[in-house]
Amino acid sequence: MMYLPYNYTKYPIWLTIDVEEVEDANFGITPKHPLRIDYAAIINKWIVFCQKHNISSTAFVLGSFAKKYPHIIKALHKNGHEIACHGLRHELVYNLPFDEWQRETQDAKKILEDIIGQEVIGYRAPSWSMPFEKKYYEALVASGFRFTSTYFPFKTYMYGNSIDKKSPFVITTPAGTITEIPLLKNIIPFSGGFYMRVLPFFLIQRLFANLINQGHKPIIYTHPYELLPHLFTRFRKDVKLDVAYFLTFFAVENSLQRFDKILKQFCKDKI
Ligand SMILES: [Zn+2]
Repeated sequence: MMYLPYNYTKYPIWLTIDVEEVEDANFGITPKHPLRIDYAAIINKWIVFCQKHNISSTAFVLGSFAKKYPHIIKALHKNGHEIACHGLRHELVYNLPFDEWQRETQDAKKILEDIIGQEVIGYRAPSWSMPFEKKYYEALVASGFRFTSTYFPFKTYMYGNSIDKKSPFVITTPAGTITEIPLLKNIIPFSGGFYMRVLPFFLIQRLFANLINQGHKPIIYTHPYELLPHLFTRFRKDVKLDVAYFLTFFAVENSLQRFDKILKQFCKDKI
């Protein structure tokens, strides 16, 4: 049995958002003081954007974020977005003792379920950092997860795997089965984060079209902070200007515009 998110099959693209605070990113930006960001307003913007396109997203929510802003998670849920789990803190999974990771993931799942009053069955590891090993998938099944979207088919210095995979696949473990929905690449990753913001747009369009024409379903992924315009200049005085700052904030104003064009091109009238 292949479990999939409830909004997965509706469109040729699967829309996802990893809901966390900007300080959570593992590149490690260094704020000089807490950054004042109105996450409720940003998520509301996301909800309105998705309504405009008549599409819902799967929101992989960090437990610590949900604890701090339960009303935001409720708003996402009420507006038809699937709530899934992004771990408790944004620690790299391979750096955590296995038991600690397992316990924290269960805690995060419980926090989310208490907020929305519904079972949470999806998981995405922070920064795609869960090793591709059966014991991790087995632990997820035992905790009640049914799908994950955590396989990144491109090796970077921080995360990723070298073998390419293009479609969801079932992993059988002693505890039961779970579906892995790998991120799609087309030679390179292109459909979210830094890649989607910085690559030339004509290339992004080509890469989406190519995969969709071959019957694959690219995954868009984004973060709340990427939906804030002018982030790069706005926090120039508040954050240490280093590589992490560049990777996290550069060209964020491209995100929504680009998603808008891509969804118009590929998801219109596809219900
Ligand atoms: Zn994340």
